[in-house]
Amino acid sequence: MAFIILNLDSLSSQVLNEDNKVLNSTENSEFKKMKRTDSEWRRILSSSEYHILREKGTERAFTGEYDGHFEEGMYVCAGCGHKLFDSETKYRSGCGWPAFSKALPESVEETEDNSYGMRRIEITCSKCDGHLGHVFNDGPQPSGLRYCINSVSMDFKPEEDK
Ligand code: FE
Repeated sequence: MAFIILNLDSLSSQVLNEDNKVLNSTENSEFKKMKRTDSEWRRILSSSEYHILREKGTERAFTGEYDGHFEEGMYVCAGCGHKLFDSETKYRSGCGWPAFSKALPESVEETEDNSYGMRRIEITCSKCDGHLGHVFNDGPQPSGLRYCINSVSMDFKPEEDK
């Protein structure tokens, strides 16, 4: 009996924690977290989108659709359509991936990534948690940031669609 009560307690606290997390991350914003099952993502995304967004893959340098792309508009998440970067913040970093000096407010979340023997900050979409790329501190002033983002993780919306 005590075992059952304990389980119920831990279950309810997990639900509360989940709610708190969602509330904190969406404070003062219009969006809620998008939750999809793995099979839903597999059905919705192309194989390269699935690999990069859901398995934290990386496209090969200098091969991405938006690496040398400098039209005016908005870059949105390829997984959920959440607005991520304004073209005004895109610059030629020469690193081989699309680079931005700034992310839109509440668009992305940062997580420490110690994979491959490196200490990096991973960037994910704040709505669907899709992997986008990493942020480095060798960007242009005033932010000093370089958001290094996979082209596959994004769709581009031209200026008129802003
Ligand atoms: Fe997303």
